[in-house]
Amino acid sequence: MRNDKSHRKFHRAAVKTVFTLIAISLLASCGKRQVHNFSGIAIGTYYSVTYVGQEDISLPVAADSIIAVINREFSIFDSTSTVSRLNANATTVLTDDIIHLISLSNHISEETGGAFDITIGPLVNAMGFGKSTDFDTLSYQKQMDSLRHFIGYQKISVADGKLQKADSRIQLDFNAIAKGYAVDKIARMMKEKGYENFLVDIGGEVLAQGRKFKGQEWRVGVQIPTETQNGLIETNYIFELPLESGMNCVATSGNYRNYKEINGKRYSHIINPTTGYSEKSSLLSVSVIAKDCATADAFATAFMVLGIEKSMAILRNHNELAAHFIYYENGNFQYKQTSNFPKNIQ
Ligand code: ADP
Ligand code: MG
Repeated sequence: MRNDKSHRKFHRAAVKTVFTLIAISLLASCGKRQVHNFSGIAIGTYYSVTYVGQEDISLPVAADSIIAVINREFSIFDSTSTVSRLNANATTVLTDDIIHLISLSNHISEETGGAFDITIGPLVNAMGFGKSTDFDTLSYQKQMDSLRHFIGYQKISVADGKLQKADSRIQLDFNAIAKGYAVDKIARMMKEKGYENFLVDIGGEVLAQGRKFKGQEWRVGVQIPTETQNGLIETNYIFELPLESGMNCVATSGNYRNYKEINGKRYSHIINPTTGYSEKSSLLSVSVIAKDCATADAFATAFMVLGIEKSMAILRNHNELAAHFIYYENGNFQYKQTSNFPKNIQ
């Protein structure tokens, strides 16, 4: 019972994480340099850009149009998006963004033993996390047994800018990487406009560039639930991204924001492609630091599938990544991180 309550509180806490951080960024910014911020709606969440320098009122329009293009390409909720049309076999023609993300996704699938897999689409739909919210737990096992035959990243390839599927029922789902990629694209736009110091945030996936003002780095953080004698308190694990190593992005994946509870059983929207089910483990969330936000986003999802042990084994061969895990064990929230994850400066 107590565990349940703590979990629920944590779910709420986790959603608030980034708002706190932005407030911190803005408060700390009253200095010699001009710091501006704009925000909007993006991919089922919000986006926020904080930047230093000359104010440019055309930036929100530029960011909105990047988000609009991403939606036109990747939304599984819009039946006319490129991915929906690819899934319905109405086209095979890919955009440069899709080609790039297929290639990056395949690489991450290989690195994670298939834990990350953009062909997960049919299972996402069958579990009611796609266009339809219906999920029949009783028939799922049967459905999954047949759907599994056309799941597998090796079953798709790109030739001459066109998608080749081993089976016409293959369906792509870029939801675990597109948000991070949108962050990277907005950051690229900011650089092209000449800005060197900015922070882009889409629903908690963050890219930081440069610094806020001299000697003051951008600060980001993970909100940490801690159980005390007085109940649950929330503390912030605040850190500076290791920009000198080029690792300027962080993405978090968790099973707390998006899940279904049916007959007391919890089904998360992150699915293990091998078993066809969400992993039932004590792992609550993973934050991954990487050199680009799409990579951080994808690895964070894969690590949720793999659990701490297997993820740590992968991370040992990837010092261009850093990770922070939050899990619940023995009646307590516990944390584990790679040695290169930045220290808490709170
Ligand atoms: P969030 O959208 O909450 O940031 P993620 O980045 O982890 O979370 O993305 C989860 C989404 O990715 C799911 O809703 C589903 O559409 C898709 N997905 C689920 N499992 C996998 C997987 N194993 N590999 C790739 N994508 C997945
Ligand atoms: Mg992800």
